[in-house]
Amino acid sequence: MRRKFICGNWKMNGTLEETSALLGGIVGLWDDAYRKVEVAICPPFTSIGLALDKLSGRGVQIAVGAQNCYSETKGAFTGEVSARMLAEAGCTYVILGHSERRTIFNENNELINRKIKTALNVGLKPILCIGETHEERELAQTYEVLLHQLTQCLRGVDVTQMKMITIAYEPVWAIGTGRTATAEIAQDSHSYIRSEIGKLYDETVASQITIQYGGSMNAANAAELLEQTDIDGGLIGGASLDAKAFTAIIEAATK
Ligand code: PEP
Repeated sequence: MRRKFICGNWKMNGTLEETSALLGGIVGLWDDAYRKVEVAICPPFTSIGLALDKLSGRGVQIAVGAQNCYSETKGAFTGEVSARMLAEAGCTYVILGHSERRTIFNENNELINRKIKTALNVGLKPILCIGETHEERELAQTYEVLLHQLTQCLRGVDVTQMKMITIAYEPVWAIGTGRTATAEIAQDSHSYIRSEIGKLYDETVASQITIQYGGSMNAANAAELLEQTDIDGGLIGGASLDAKAFTAIIEAATK
């Protein structure tokens, strides 16, 4: 049985004051039953320390992650943050390959692959985002795109390292648009991803890997998505900024 994994991607939201308020809300609504679920939040870099502070000793089980890291370990890379810095700051996870990084910041699969390896080297667990655009779906290229992103981003990652990786299927057309993939569409892509991981690695890796769905998941649609055989959790953008909505999604994942 794979444990469900719900992770909030706060994107560029969360001043220190907002971080305190949001985490206060989540801690206040926390139920012990949520321990069944792996829960994480990925605030902006500047709120990581405060988030860890706000969550420790509060009786909640919420890990903290980052939304990006650089592919190099140190040096003259103005504005970048290394995986080691994040691990040292207390991060457990790092989101890599998010479609906003791919489109706005021109990140390609090759760079994402290097970032994944750098993260793995310091024990950070990558959440690798893959997904097709609306146009690619219309052209029936979804499988091809998913397979390409998987093989390129995971190049050189071995079976043991795969235990550290979560895949997030995030159809680009569903991110921040309020247009969720139907449970059927999402399940179909998840099942495809799992079967390809089986071919790239082996059946054990395929059956154990966590595949999250991301794309306008919210309190109203979470239950239906999370009950699909191959949907093991959610990467949540907008709804993770609302304590009630985020905890309702965690609640759905306990079922
Ligand atoms: C995301 O950015 O990873 C995401 C899934 O966003 P949203 O939930 O807002 O669509």
